[in-house]
Amino acid sequence: MNSTISDEITTVEPLVKQKVPKLFLFLFFAVSATILFVFTVPFRWELVGVAVASYYLRMFGVTAVYHRYFSHNSYKTSRVFQFILAFLGATAMQKGPLWWAAHHRNHHRYSDTEKDIHSPKQKGFWYSHMLWFLNSDYNDYESKMIKDYFKYPELVFLDKYHWIAPLSYAIGLYAIGGWEWLVYGYAVATFFLGHGTWTINSLAHVIGKRRYETKDESKNNFILALITMGEGWHNNHHHYAHSVNQGFYWYEVDFSYYILKAMSWFGLVWDLKKPPVKVLDEGRRMDAIRKKRDIYMSREKGKWLPTGLGSGIRSGLQPDMANASVGD
Ligand SMILES: [Zn+2]
Ligand SMILES: [Zn+2]
Repeated sequence: MNSTISDEITTVEPLVKQKVPKLFLFLFFAVSATILFVFTVPFRWELVGVAVASYYLRMFGVTAVYHRYFSHNSYKTSRVFQFILAFLGATAMQKGPLWWAAHHRNHHRYSDTEKDIHSPKQKGFWYSHMLWFLNSDYNDYESKMIKDYFKYPELVFLDKYHWIAPLSYAIGLYAIGGWEWLVYGYAVATFFLGHGTWTINSLAHVIGKRRYETKDESKNNFILALITMGEGWHNNHHHYAHSVNQGFYWYEVDFSYYILKAMSWFGLVWDLKKPPVKVLDEGRRMDAIRKKRDIYMSREKGKWLPTGLGSGIRSGLQPDMANASVGD
């Protein structure tokens, strides 16, 4: 489902030019390589804590801000806090919020078709994971795709000079904890943050379970939800992209949502959009159908194999699996 994007937006004008794509490319590889500085710092668990904190702080900036706010308008906030959140998102070094959201809206619009710029189905795993991000063809974006935020000059500025945020963040870390914090809090954390985020473009369209029959290949994946603070419930998200929570049920962990919910108690954000009851009911129904189907399939395999003659062999299962109990 993709109701945030108007179907009338078909023009490619005007493109918003990114001024320094080559410089960005150089910086990207340079920053990625700085993870090797980890060998210049004696290992301490406190530094791992710094890296983890820096990772999740900025993962929140990507998931709760770039994705759920700028791309999908799943909650509201003030203009001042909007900028603060956008700045936090920009420290992740994944370019500016408008660039990110404009391309992400396209991802929903064209999911897993030829026009999807990071579909593993179209161009393979590594391209969907990170090479698209470095492809200079996508340095620009259509301002109309993000016109609801393009009207704020401070966001356009932040977007244009997106390198200011990560640079300030790195300087801040150095000021607080010196070289050790810079290496663990910036180099190590940023490296994993990039790859962690991109698993949603790559792995979340490949590995996991599908609850809803969306047009794309999106999957729900618990491990990815832990890595990305809730974004691993990607099939839920593709089905109902408006929702502020991507984990639809209590057992689907979604730390970005928990934090946004806590922020709403203090009036920092409001109008958190939740999935409608019919979407949740449909999900429960689909889960029940899948469960029944899985039990049925297990029973069938169990029945076939002891007879052995043909069907069990064709199923490709080993004899010891045939004797495994599948329950009632
Ligand atoms: Zn997707
Ligand atoms: Zn999305």
